[in-house]
Amino acid sequence: MSLTFCDSHAHLNDEAFAEDLEGVLAACEKAGIVRIVNVGFDERSSVKALEQAVQHSALAATVGLHPHDASDFSPRTIDFLDSLCAEPKVVAIGETGLDSYYVHSPVEKQKEAFEAHLELAERVQLPVVIHCRDAYSELVETLQAGYQPDHVPWHVHCFSGNARELAELIELDCYFSVGGMVTFKKFGGQELIRAIPAERLLLETDSPYLAPHPRRGRRNDPSLLVYTAEAVAAIRGIELEELSRITDENFNRIFSQV
Ligand SMILES: [Zn+2]
Ligand SMILES: [Zn+2]
Repeated sequence: MSLTFCDSHAHLNDEAFAEDLEGVLAACEKAGIVRIVNVGFDERSSVKALEQAVQHSALAATVGLHPHDASDFSPRTIDFLDSLCAEPKVVAIGETGLDSYYVHSPVEKQKEAFEAHLELAERVQLPVVIHCRDAYSELVETLQAGYQPDHVPWHVHCFSGNARELAELIELDCYFSVGGMVTFKKFGGQELIRAIPAERLLLETDSPYLAPHPRRGRRNDPSLLVYTAEAVAAIRGIELEELSRITDENFNRIFSQV
């Protein structure tokens, strides 16, 4: 029996796929990548993610404004995203979050936009796709401030914090997706990968970025997810079959509409 995997974070709405989306999706099907969350990062790409998801059954969409572009945020942004949420193919809000590494937008503005996305997600009862870089203590603070035991799922994609930050986010019931970096020779986060509870573990590609070894440096696409899956299974000391089962189950739990 061939294994299946789900890509919890890809940007097939990126220009990089403008020419050959059909071919990429055919390769995904062949590779057992059965479901893909196509992540919006601004208004235009959110609409595109949704259009692609309506056309292709393996895809679902998220709608949000990336922290890089938080300077463009206004209450109108939320009204617009809210209007897209009525579509059944929209399965999450985001990506949103905090990025103090690039700081393309002022931190205060990022925080304002992030909090508004969190509120919208509660209102429409959809999970939140969270991007965070070099801002994990602020992320923990923000999530703690809005914490309610029955909050919608919070999915931290491409986790890059330390062990303490991971533990704090686990306390806040977060899900974590692991991407192609685990396949790099210099990857040093094995302990962190093992520390993620099995019931909170997801896989991602972040296509077209971060292609796994041996495709590093080239365009990433969801059909390459299996390299990451193999690396994660090896690090956690489990069979690939078990990883497939665990991560598919988690994916289905939080992105139930896909
Ligand atoms: Zn991101
Ligand atoms: Zn992303």
